[in-house]
Amino acid sequence: MKILVINTGSSSIKYELFDMADHRVMASGIAERIGEEESLIIQKNILSNGESTEIKEAVLIADHHEGMRHIVDLLVDEEYGAVRDKNEIAAVGHRVVHGGEAFHSTTIIDEEVIAAIKRNIPLAPLHNPPNLIGIEVAREAFPDALQVAVFDTAFHQTIPMRAFLYAIPFELYEKERVRRYGFHGTSHAYVAERAAEYLGRPLGELNLITIHLGNGASMAAIKNGKCVDTTMGMTPLAGLVMGTRSGDVDPALPFFLTDHLGMSPKDIDTLLNNESGLKGVCGTNDMREVIEKIDAGDSRAKIALDLYTYRIKKYMGAYFAVLEILDAVVFTAGIGENSPYVRELCSRGLNRLGMEIDLERNKLAGSGISEINSQNSEVKILVIPTNEELKIAQETKKAIANSLK
Ligand code: AMP
Repeated sequence: MKILVINTGSSSIKYELFDMADHRVMASGIAERIGEEESLIIQKNILSNGESTEIKEAVLIADHHEGMRHIVDLLVDEEYGAVRDKNEIAAVGHRVVHGGEAFHSTTIIDEEVIAAIKRNIPLAPLHNPPNLIGIEVAREAFPDALQVAVFDTAFHQTIPMRAFLYAIPFELYEKERVRRYGFHGTSHAYVAERAAEYLGRPLGELNLITIHLGNGASMAAIKNGKCVDTTMGMTPLAGLVMGTRSGDVDPALPFFLTDHLGMSPKDIDTLLNNESGLKGVCGTNDMREVIEKIDAGDSRAKIALDLYTYRIKKYMGAYFAVLEILDAVVFTAGIGENSPYVRELCSRGLNRLGMEIDLERNKLAGSGISEINSQNSEVKILVIPTNEELKIAQETKKAIANSLK
């Protein structure tokens, strides 16, 4: 069975084609700068023997419909294509950012599901509209394939009310659905499953803290395999310090910025989402550059990294308390997978809680799953590469199987 995974942004369509027989990626690509003067489409085809070819085309792509047509053409291209006929693609799995409270799991898309995703637009005004366009253009391009939605929020729908409700008038939850939702759910769920496989225990028996550190960053507390708390909130702005997002701030900060600096809601939105985090403190949102700057003696970069790792460690302490018993901590995504320095700073000094990092193992962690705790550590510390696209493909396959039951 071949499944196409699609992640549609406001000006891009990212895609990955899987052969689900062996979970092999057959092709991956991106149509980017859609609607701009110079659009680009890049596709990498990977043969079963591991050899790959890359095609790069500068084409004018006026809108997502055209982008999708180009993607289909490339996927079935006689010379470069990954499949002979687009009908070989049984299903399209869509990453949808906000499922609100309506979706607890992966769902086959029909008119009702589309209406529900639309109802969640106020909760994710930047993400759900392009996701809906992705669904529309994929339905047009693959009319015979099943379309499936995999929600970033779904994994967090098991969070209990005491952890998801904000202490504000209850009507705002009842009427406007203001609450913590959490994001990166596909990644947290994927690495939790891989951790259970690695540890050789059922996920339903495991308590985990998963730490996704990419450009966006979030943590999840997982009790008996189910998410019970997460750092992101109603929007992805809350929680950890991120590349350009502030994470937690005093909720009264916007009033100060308005009253004293005359900033508009839009200015504050831009400030907290795009100009804060690592970038706000030291001028770059790229962790590699932050570390290079520290090595060159830049004191602001040192402060930025200090804030970044302190916040993670603080939430680790909080989630230790929430879970009471902890089996493993999992680091994942760009920074979590690749920066021994960040992992070390977050994990130091937690021996009394049963968690001890092995600095040598931490440095040697490779590209697969690595265990970086010391022999004596009660809590395992794992580095597990995330793979959101594969998880979306797996979820899509499962949804198809369930629909046939
Ligand atoms: P992601 O959003 O998962 O692609 O992660 C992007 C982040 O990972 C950026 O901040 C990169 O600087 C960071 N990153 C990637 N490789 C490394 C590395 N070797 N060391 C530190 N940070 C890295």
